Amino acid sequence: LVRLRSRLSRSQNVFGKGLLGLLSRDRLDEDVWEEIEDSLITADVGVDATRDIVDRLRERTRVLGTRSVAELRTLLATELVTALDPGLDRSLHTAPKEGVPAVLLVVGVNGAGKTTTCGKIARVLIADGRSVLLGAADTFRAAAADQLQTWAGRVGAETVRGPEGADPASVAFDAVKRGIETGVDTVLVDTAGRLQNKIGLMDELGKVKRVVEKHGPIDETLLVLDATTGQNGLEQARVFTEVVNVTGVVLTKLDGTAKGGIVIAVQRKLGIPVKLVGLGEGPDDLAPFDPAQFVDALLG
Ligand code: GDP
Repeated sequence: LVRLRSRLSRSQNVFGKGLLGLLSRDRLDEDVWEEIEDSLITADVGVDATRDIVDRLRERTRVLGTRSVAELRTLLATELVTALDPGLDRSLHTAPKEGVPAVLLVVGVNGAGKTTTCGKIARVLIADGRSVLLGAADTFRAAAADQLQTWAGRVGAETVRGPEGADPASVAFDAVKRGIETGVDTVLVDTAGRLQNKIGLMDELGKVKRVVEKHGPIDETLLVLDATTGQNGLEQARVFTEVVNVTGVVLTKLDGTAKGGIVIAVQRKLGIPVKLVGLGEGPDDLAPFDPAQFVDALLG
């Protein structure tokens, strides 16, 4: 939690700052509500979610007869955690079943942090004693496969890649095939995400999915989202949920943004749990997402 807090505060999160201002007051007047609303909107919580949270908060304070801003902070924390649906299953399915590797598909627009996230997840699993294979199904940029291979070397995973321009689905197929043959525990398939050509990309991703499923069901499809792209990025991301069955979101670059509230918007808009958060570029900068801890860190 301390690490999470220091990482988030590095970005001088607006929640914290906004609330600091609130705490210097001694009573709840209309300005306080406006400030809370502004803080939430600025933090990218989204207009609808903000309205809901503030409405509920007002109702709660009315019922409870809340007078102090300190109490209000506690109630706000509760509302934010509630908005994040703390009961959702956020576990990551990475364990092999009956000798067959778990297969994870990693999708998202270019630059969101897919390759980095694959490396980080591999790192966690390997530290846990698992064997991991990384499949480089982003075949459009040679640099992408190189980058994945560098990560693999760094964390001790095997890689399967194809020649530049190879069919991504065939590389994905080969990666899973090899994973089954060599008996690794987990196969992570990194995919391409060129949104410039949406239909082409989605056809390609659909094909990757179908081909991988020839080996058996996909255990987890992770959508990687860059927290700094805000509501816009969220709109783009929706496309992915139409093509593949996204089971979890990885929200990256939370270390570099004052817009941590996007987590709430993501879950609300996509209806998919945020399972992991990226807090930096290094191999250990990945954390499981815990709503209560996150809100606590966010409020400073
Ligand atoms: P991809 O195109 O989706 O595979 O994205 P990459 O994994 O290549 O990441 C794009 C850039 O974002 C790289 O410079 C990464 O180091 C950086 N990046 C990825 N995740 C994070 C994160 O959680 N925090 C920060 N600050 N940078 C990140």
